[in-house]
Amino acid sequence: MQRIALLTSGGDSPGMNAAIRAVVRKSIYHGREVIGIRRGFAGFIEADMGPMNLSSVADIIHRGGTVLRTARSEEFKTAEGREQAWENVGRFGIQGLIVVGGDGSFAGADIFHSEYNLPVVGIPGTIDNDIAGTDFSIGFDTAVNTVVEAINKIRDTATSHERTFIVEVMGRNSGSIALSSGLAGGAESILIPEREYDLDQVCKKLNRGYKRGKLHSVIIVAEGAASGIDVGKEIKRETGLDTKVTILGHLQRGGNPTAFDRNLASIMGAKAVDLLIQGEQKKMVGMVAGDIITMDLDEAFKEVKPLDLELHKLAAILSI
Ligand code: ATP
Repeated sequence: MQRIALLTSGGDSPGMNAAIRAVVRKSIYHGREVIGIRRGFAGFIEADMGPMNLSSVADIIHRGGTVLRTARSEEFKTAEGREQAWENVGRFGIQGLIVVGGDGSFAGADIFHSEYNLPVVGIPGTIDNDIAGTDFSIGFDTAVNTVVEAINKIRDTATSHERTFIVEVMGRNSGSIALSSGLAGGAESILIPEREYDLDQVCKKLNRGYKRGKLHSVIIVAEGAASGIDVGKEIKRETGLDTKVTILGHLQRGGNPTAFDRNLASIMGAKAVDLLIQGEQKKMVGMVAGDIITMDLDEAFKEVKPLDLELHKLAAILSI
C-alpha cells in the first residue's frame, strides 16, 4: 500500500480538517503518498484530485468545514459513475481509500469495495452522531456545544421576558444532538424521534413550572421529531403562554472544532492509515467506552444506532 486516497463526503462536520491532517501526516510518516480527492465522490468521478504534502494540511486543525470540500453525488449511486471513479483509481495509482463521512458515504464506499476490491476505511464524520458502532462521530461534540451556547443566550432573553422558547436542532432521524444539548442546557422538555411525546404533558409541565415561579422555559425539538414552529403554535394554543421559536439550522455545522473533536479526528485519522497499511479491506474506525475500535464497515451503516433513553429520563427528572 503505497498510495492512499482520501475524501470527505456528505454533510461537513467540524473536525473533518483535523482528520485530513492526521491522515496526510501519518501516511507521510510511514513513507506513503496521499491523494486528496475534492468534493467527495463527485470529485472521485471527475478526477478532481491531486497529491497532498505536509504543508497542504498546515494551519487547518482548528478550522471547521473541510478543505477538501464535500458534496453529495447522485452519479456515484450508479454503476456507470462508479466505473468512472474506478478508471481514476488506475490513472492515479490509488491503492486504498479513506472516506470521512456519514452512513450514506459508507454505503458508497462499501459498494465500491464489493465491485472493485479497493481496500476502504471509513471515519465517522457527521454532527448527527447516528452511526452505529461508535459512541461519537467527529463534529457531534462541537455541534452540541454550539447548541448549548445558543441555549445559554436564549435563557437570558427568555428570563427577561418570561417567555417559553422552542429551539429546533439538527440531527436528521436521530435525537442525539437534542438529547445531549437538552440535558446540558437544562431544557424543560426534549422532543426526540426515538420516543413518543405527548404535547399535553409538555404543556402541563410548563404550567406547573410557571405556577411555581419559573421565569422561563426552554424546549428542545429534534428536527426528526417535529417542526419547532408547529410545536410552538400548539403550546401557545394550549397554554396561552408567550412562545418564541428558534431554528438553529446550519450554524450547528460550522465553527471551530472542540478539543474533543480534534483529538477524536486525529486519533481516528491515524488509525485509518494504520488499518490500510496492515492490509485491512473494509473497516470503520470507532470509539467505544473511550477505546478506539475497528469494525466491519457494513455493520456500521446497516444497523440503527440506539439512543440512551435513560439519559432522556434523567433529563426529565432533573428539569422537573
Ligand atoms: P450526513 O450524515 O452528514 O448526511 P452521509 O454520508 O450520510 O452524511 P449522504 O448524502 O447520505 O450523506 O451520502 C453521501 C454520498 O454517498 C451520496 O451523495 C452518494 O454519492 C454516496 N452514497 C450514498 N448512498 C449510496 C449508495 N447506496 N450507493 C452508492 N453511493 C452512495
